[in-house]
Amino acid sequence: MGVLTSTPARSGDETSFPSLRKAMVERDIAARGVRDEFVLEAMRKVPRELFLPKNLHEFAYEDAPLPIAGDQTISQPYIVAFMVEALMLKGGEKVLEIGAGSGYAAAVLSEIAANVYTVERLGPLAETAARTLADLGYDNVHVLHGDGTRGWPDHAPYDAIIVAAGGPQIPESLKEQLKIGGRLVIPVGSDQRSQELVRVTRVSANEYRSEDIADVRFVPLIGEEGWPTVKNDSRMPGRAPRPISSQREMLVRNLADAAEPFASIEAADLDPLMERIGPARVVLLGEATHGTSEFYGMRARITRDLIVKKGFRFVAIEADWPDAARVDHYVRHFQYPPSEWTAFARFPTWMWRNAEMRDFVSWLRKHNGGVERNKRAACHGLDLYSLYDSIRCVLNYLDQVDPKSARVARERYGCLTPWQRDPATYGHAALTGSYPTCESHVVRALTDLLEKRRTYAEHDGDRFLDAEQNARLVASAERYYRIMYYGSRASWNLRDNHMFETLKNLLAYHGPDSKAVVWAHNSHVGNAGATEMAARGEYNLGQLCRSEFGDGAYMVGFGTHSGTVAAASEWDGPMEIKAVRPSHPESYERLCHATGLPRFMLAMRERGDLCGSGGLGKERLERAVGVIYRPDTELGSHYFRAVLPQQFDEYVWFDDSCAVTPLETAEIKGLPDTYPFGV
Ligand code: SAH
Repeated sequence: MGVLTSTPARSGDETSFPSLRKAMVERDIAARGVRDEFVLEAMRKVPRELFLPKNLHEFAYEDAPLPIAGDQTISQPYIVAFMVEALMLKGGEKVLEIGAGSGYAAAVLSEIAANVYTVERLGPLAETAARTLADLGYDNVHVLHGDGTRGWPDHAPYDAIIVAAGGPQIPESLKEQLKIGGRLVIPVGSDQRSQELVRVTRVSANEYRSEDIADVRFVPLIGEEGWPTVKNDSRMPGRAPRPISSQREMLVRNLADAAEPFASIEAADLDPLMERIGPARVVLLGEATHGTSEFYGMRARITRDLIVKKGFRFVAIEADWPDAARVDHYVRHFQYPPSEWTAFARFPTWMWRNAEMRDFVSWLRKHNGGVERNKRAACHGLDLYSLYDSIRCVLNYLDQVDPKSARVARERYGCLTPWQRDPATYGHAALTGSYPTCESHVVRALTDLLEKRRTYAEHDGDRFLDAEQNARLVASAERYYRIMYYGSRASWNLRDNHMFETLKNLLAYHGPDSKAVVWAHNSHVGNAGATEMAARGEYNLGQLCRSEFGDGAYMVGFGTHSGTVAAASEWDGPMEIKAVRPSHPESYERLCHATGLPRFMLAMRERGDLCGSGGLGKERLERAVGVIYRPDTELGSHYFRAVLPQQFDEYVWFDDSCAVTPLETAEIKGLPDTYPFGV
């Protein structure tokens, strides 16, 4: 999870804005595929900071949407550039914008078009936008306060129309106000919070051509030909009435009765949970953030019981295969030559390099010390971001077992070596045809290896599994970086599919009776079908496990109300300890908080009585914090809609929680690392 952005130099110094702006255009817009020089030039000119409230100026050149008045947002620069490029302007046109907001996108448009007409539904926003634009000398922009779903007929027809808010369908009025040959770009979706970006071209008087161009997330388009009102959102005018308080109080009371409180992680009685898990083959343990100590601690506690009392064979974590393999060698007391690279050294290092994880790893090693070699509990990685480390592992393996094949594999993987530093750029180059795709090469390298399974595996099954999984990872990662540009849905699904296939492969490897514990974020382990991810066409590991194993998959979600969390402010940024904002009034978290219980387990699968659509089964907000946490834009960037009891079988609650303790990272920079944590 998390917003993928690169790191701008933060600065409150206003004189540096032009250079921050230029850097942002190159880094976040040109480098991500926007090629239209008109658009890039316009983005380089418009001072985005001046469309923001003063306290947000310093964030103006991060590629993120930001809050403006009226609970609205100024769009993310990349999205503005992407949409304007999709309008295919050549200069001199008449353009209509719906959703002026801050006026920023209108200013960008006015740098290219001859005249821009922009409509805003909220009066105070329309007024501020008009004033800002006038102060900055944009005299070819005209602002109207009104319902933009009806367009602005007085100046129709338009060469291009752009809509900055998402509606349930394309307003007829807007289609009618397009010139023949004109383009309309609009987010459309049956869910108020996620949409498909659509470009409609008017081919003739009554013919239109429509293309889907990206998955997006906009504020709702409210009006006669848009949404009647905003569903369940207390910040918006015209919201649905709140449930009467006595109903809520009743639910909170029932919840408190059903909850199994515990005094501390160590003291928790897990027997009832073990009983509920029963014969399940896969237990998935989630986390609402990637940086909360209690989530790691409790997952470790549950996992220890699963290993000791129920014979679970391995833990599969949301980490890259080669990194987790280092932990595996350590905990299973395998003799491997020390390697010259450091495990878990990439962003976000704190996710696995933390004291909580180290304690669990030490326990596992100690536990395995007293167990026969082939019964020791293993640790494996499910994720796919280690393209080059995995290539190296496959080649090292082949160098040792079959040098002739190693030469062939080296040649095949050579296709990817020019892109070693930046696989995302490979993906883009392959997609645009400026570099041939390496797909057939990496697939051949994998099939070559699999064909020799029998000969190789005889020698050492564990080492073969390691090489095989690395070769599979390379094949998935190669695709991942290519399809990433088709939108978040395709790459998300590919990644979770890779995790699922890896898990199944591991269960097969460890034998027909083997059982697995998975540690991954709630967004991977909960059933995506019960969340707004489904409306975006996304599925996940939990959902795939549910359909494969039915009740034999036991999914546990974790949550918290407030406290601190380890997270970065942007991708590749440094870890910070951030305060977690108290949970949203309409979230599941707030409901759990209202019980007044500091810690509890909630057996939702068993308590169907509590989980009907009038109770816990009513859709609510749920918070997800990944490696990035942005409290300022929390509602937009960290909350999603879900039906908790359908998402998870069990929920573990920590009202107040603390950030994980990261390990010293000095050793990451220098010395060879001979064991997982360099301590
Ligand atoms: N282009 C803006 C982004 C605005 S967000 C910018 O660069 O800042 C979308 C805006 O659409 C919000 O301000 C919202 O109030 C507005 N909006 C929603 N429904 C609307 C409608 N029917 N007509 C006009 N504006 C609408």
